[in-house]
Amino acid sequence: MSRSVLVTGGNRGIGLAIARAFAEAGDKVAITYRSGEPPAELTALGVLAVRCDITDSDQVDQAYKQVEDAHGAVEVLVANAGITKDTLLMRMSEDDFASVVDTNLTGTFRVVKRANRGMLRAKKGRVVLISSVVGLLGSAGQANYAASKAALVGFARSLARELGSRNITFNVVAPGFVDTDMTKVLNDEQRAGIVGQVPLGRYAQPEEIAAAVSFLASDNAAYITGAVIPVDGGLGM
Ligand code: NAD
Repeated sequence: MSRSVLVTGGNRGIGLAIARAFAEAGDKVAITYRSGEPPAELTALGVLAVRCDITDSDQVDQAYKQVEDAHGAVEVLVANAGITKDTLLMRMSEDDFASVVDTNLTGTFRVVKRANRGMLRAKKGRVVLISSVVGLLGSAGQANYAASKAALVGFARSLARELGSRNITFNVVAPGFVDTDMTKVLNDEQRAGIVGQVPLGRYAQPEEIAAAVSFLASDNAAYITGAVIPVDGGLGM
């Protein structure tokens, strides 16, 4: 069964691994990316890449139109795009706070709302949101990011209740520290400090996050909704 899958921020890091996993499983995959060029390996796998900034509703709508024309209505949505703007509260500007919320939370709202249209019509759908262990535990210097990621849990659980009767599931994956561009900004000392707190003693690889997402989108997870699945090496327990 080949489904129409959309992964936001699918051009690198965790989103790239998720898009690759669905494409290799035979699904019709589209990704959105904000800048640069989509990776050649995804083009080779037949993945449709659409430039789209999720802070702009018109761009989100245009992206969906392109995906629907090519693959039909989105059946599996993975809302993965996200940013950090880390700084201590005393230095955090209103813009530092608002821009992180506008991407991580409101951006997720924009893509979920647009996907819901087709899912309601189809009377089925799978939505997976990428939160973070930081949203559950908090993290000094990341109050904006943690707030936006924690909010995704309430968002997903509300929609799981609202749309369960329509056969649309909403689940959250909360990764720990993953080897991607987002964590490359940490220096060796910070990295060692984090790894020291992770029971499994290492960072995750993006493919390990993709495996949980693939499961939540599979028939094996048909009775799972409103769940928050940590993929964090035990960091958040
Ligand atoms: P990354 O920086 O490598 O990738 C982020 C992706 O989001 C990119 O594709 C980028 O283009 C996209 N994006 C950002 N702002 C956007 C916007 N306005 N419109 C459209 N796309 C936008 O980061 P990553 O590590 O792959 O993170 C992916 C997701 O996983 C994020 O939501 C992040 O918060 C979350 N996460 C990451 C980690 C980690 O340790 N790397 C841990 C927990 C959660």
